[in-house]
Amino acid sequence: MITQEQVERILRLSGNGIPVVSLYVPVNPGRPDRREFDSRVSSLLDRIRPLALDSSAEHAVRLSLREDIARIEKTLGEEPLRPGAVAVFSCGGRDIYEQVWLPRRTHDRIVVDADPYVRPLLGVLDEYYRTCAVIVDKSVGQVWEYYLDEVRELEAIRDRVVRKHGYSDEYAEYRVRNKADELSKKHFRRLVGELKQLFASGGYDLLAVGGQARDVPVFVDFLPRELKDRLVGTFTLDRESATPEDIRQKVRELVSEHADQEQRRLVDEILEAKAAGKPPAAVGLDETLWAASLAAIRTLAVDGQAVVPGGVCDRDGLLSRSGKTCPLCGEPLREVADVIDELAETVIDDGGEVRHVDAETDLRTQQAGALLRFELPPQPTAAS
Ligand SMILES: [Zn+2]
Repeated sequence: MITQEQVERILRLSGNGIPVVSLYVPVNPGRPDRREFDSRVSSLLDRIRPLALDSSAEHAVRLSLREDIARIEKTLGEEPLRPGAVAVFSCGGRDIYEQVWLPRRTHDRIVVDADPYVRPLLGVLDEYYRTCAVIVDKSVGQVWEYYLDEVRELEAIRDRVVRKHGYSDEYAEYRVRNKADELSKKHFRRLVGELKQLFASGGYDLLAVGGQARDVPVFVDFLPRELKDRLVGTFTLDRESATPEDIRQKVRELVSEHADQEQRRLVDEILEAKAAGKPPAAVGLDETLWAASLAAIRTLAVDGQAVVPGGVCDRDGLLSRSGKTCPLCGEPLREVADVIDELAETVIDDGGEVRHVDAETDLRTQQAGALLRFELPPQPTAAS
């Protein structure tokens, strides 16, 4: 899966005068269908093939696009498929090829532009917390990243420590202890400095602190306000014997507890706004689909388990769960297996936030709700 480092690399990509191809292809849940996927890829690439042959374009541009098309087709044709979506950013002329698998679906999309087209990527990733986990003891601090349910070590910070040895008298023992405390304070301060830098660069949302039960609270006391505000919890673990899997389990527990609380908070906010009549909010699938059809959704909450068939108007983007024709333009609706999926993808395309709610809340029966950018006009009926 994708790492924070890769996201940052993609955001910095530029073709410096040669266009970058950005491609998004959804992969169905369950057993992915290879043929369907390959045909989606090739029909997306078909849309840009004429550009690669356009004799009015610079030679270097045509060459780069031809290289992009060939490489995307070959690479994606060989990749094992995973449910969600794959995003590719390619610029052959600059030797750029980035490919990431996303945990949720996006719309089919191909864009040729000076910069990579990242909105769908950021929209999907927006929902996942980027967590920095630090494992502390008196002389070593290990910094880990937990993202999309995977962990990787970022760095280890080692400092000098006073070794235990036989003390000649009580005073010597006291001095050694004092010295040791001083060194661990210095070590903790250095570690805090590193964390401040990591969080200041904007890469992380949450902080988790682990280690021996006696070290963790001492270290937490060293955290400045801005890091304490990000602290999602602490855990006990022996640094020397802990495996990456142990760390993943501990951090995952804290993060999913936090996600659960945030989901409940959002659902409450939507329901309260709806009851009070302000700020504008939508509750229930029909009203929320209507809101998305008008690009009115700022923050969408959808039940993580709900799947509801429905229809989409390809002319004006209207979403509906019933009816054969679009109430806005009268065109026939295109049937979709899950209109909630279309809803989430539409909100991301319109620059809104999407939150899938897995917690048991009042949203389960309503299936969807949203905080809106403006009051909705009345919903048209198929008859009108
Ligand atoms: Zn329509």
